[in-house]
Amino acid sequence: MTVSDCIFCKIIAKVISSDIIYEDDRLIAIKDINPAAPLHLLIIPKQHIASLNEIGTEDIEMLGHIQLLASRLAAESGISARGYRLVNNCGEWGGQSVPHLHYHLLGGKQMGWPPK
Ligand code: AMP
Ligand code: ZN
Repeated sequence: MTVSDCIFCKIIAKVISSDIIYEDDRLIAIKDINPAAPLHLLIIPKQHIASLNEIGTEDIEMLGHIQLLASRLAAESGISARGYRLVNNCGEWGGQSVPHLHYHLLGGKQMGWPPK
């Protein structure tokens, strides 16, 4: 897949519409089109990075920014007190279906563990 074929790059470029919750120069957060929980957001770096396998030390600040944004969006969504989950699926066995790095912010129901 090239970057121009990437669905999340198209969402970031606004070629494909999405329900944008937050945006800055480095990140975008959107509602997942197929929610797995009452709150299901995707936090996506604007830079095309295929997966967590591709990150380096140059990405430390962006990755920290994702964690802070997840905490902030959880608070704003009213799910902080009861708890929530921040998930990255990496690669085939991790269940990744879109090869552009993203984190799922899931909340609003009791989560199970371990994953199937
Ligand atoms: P993953 O399986 O971890 O790669 O997660 C990809 C997620 O992207 C899935 O939860 C999909 O429902 C979601 N998704 C795919 N296409 C779109 C889209 N156009 N807008 C919003 N979410 C999407
Ligand atoms: Zn991309």
